[in-house]
Amino acid sequence: MKTRIIPFFIPHAGCPYRCVYCDQRVITSQEGQVRGEDVARTIAEYLATGGEEGRWEVAFYGGSFTALPPSKQRELLLPAFRALQEGRIEAIRISTRPDCLDEERLALLMAYGVTLVELGVQSMDDRVLRLAGRGHTAAAVVEAATLLRSWGFEWGAQLMPGLPGAGPASDLFTARQIAALEPDVVRIYPAVVLAGTELHRMLEKGKYKPLSLKEAVERTVEMRLIFEERGIPVIRTGLQESPGLAAKVVAGPYHPAFGELVEGEIYFRQVDYYLEKIVQGGISCRKIKVAVNPQEVSKAIGHGRSNLRRWQEKRGIQVEVVGREEVEAGNMVFLAVDDEKVKVEVKRQDFIKACREKEKERKKE
Ligand code: SF4
Repeated sequence: MKTRIIPFFIPHAGCPYRCVYCDQRVITSQEGQVRGEDVARTIAEYLATGGEEGRWEVAFYGGSFTALPPSKQRELLLPAFRALQEGRIEAIRISTRPDCLDEERLALLMAYGVTLVELGVQSMDDRVLRLAGRGHTAAAVVEAATLLRSWGFEWGAQLMPGLPGAGPASDLFTARQIAALEPDVVRIYPAVVLAGTELHRMLEKGKYKPLSLKEAVERTVEMRLIFEERGIPVIRTGLQESPGLAAKVVAGPYHPAFGELVEGEIYFRQVDYYLEKIVQGGISCRKIKVAVNPQEVSKAIGHGRSNLRRWQEKRGIQVEVVGREEVEAGNMVFLAVDDEKVKVEVKRQDFIKACREKEKERKKE
């Protein structure tokens, strides 16, 4: 069943830190403090306009929820908790810093029906965390994740590749460390430079070079595949569009359809993996027909049909992508090679395994 989010943005509230990339008011596009009455009213508005279908979830994003005074946390949570008790919504989630959690705070969250806590992790490399001004170490993430699990909460990790000092090895290390902690969900937001932030000043002084869009897509793909390999859902890649955000981005890999670029790149590689086998097998062909889940067709053909062009240019093969309900999202079934019918399934997991084998071979060389 589709989950529909009723979002609340808590701009920088309660956070005593100033991470180099952060302009929380820009990211959340909402000035001022949210009050309990705003939460109650907004929940009612969403439920009134959203119809019956779906599973409603209240989410408190931005800022550091558990760094707010307990009275403010209660004020915000109470209307959501009431809606939960009345069966009008199904879940409540919050996001916070890893070093802002302890038994007392978790007791409050649990008492008000919160089930999922997203941690702003960004990196598991202490040097990168220090350069980003995060004010906590990777050990704090492990501690917070362990505490959340021991209390029976679900937890999520928000990661930010491309921070100062983070090369590909560092970001992939982060993904592996987090995957080993088995979060329930992951979000990956490559670092972008927002006007007026410390990162902006570093950029102007030549002390920071953001990732290009291509680098960010490729790095996010590699990170995403580490989670997919373990069956950990990556629920978002790239910043959520919000009014005023694009105008504030002064540099970095910002793209309104970043998630699509990432998923398109994975499909590109997955089809190409099969095309390479065909070419290596000495089979000469000009056309391939491949089926994916109908919801995935636009991702598979790539943003602006770019994958179709790339397969043609790289392999000289024209690929036709069709939707078939019976194909699970992420998997694909090759249906025809030229005019000959075939039925070859390439599951996402098989493709990831093949990538890992290739990596091992490369390392041996
Ligand atoms: S912890 Fe979050 S809200 Fe606080 S400065 Fe860092 S990014 Fe911004």
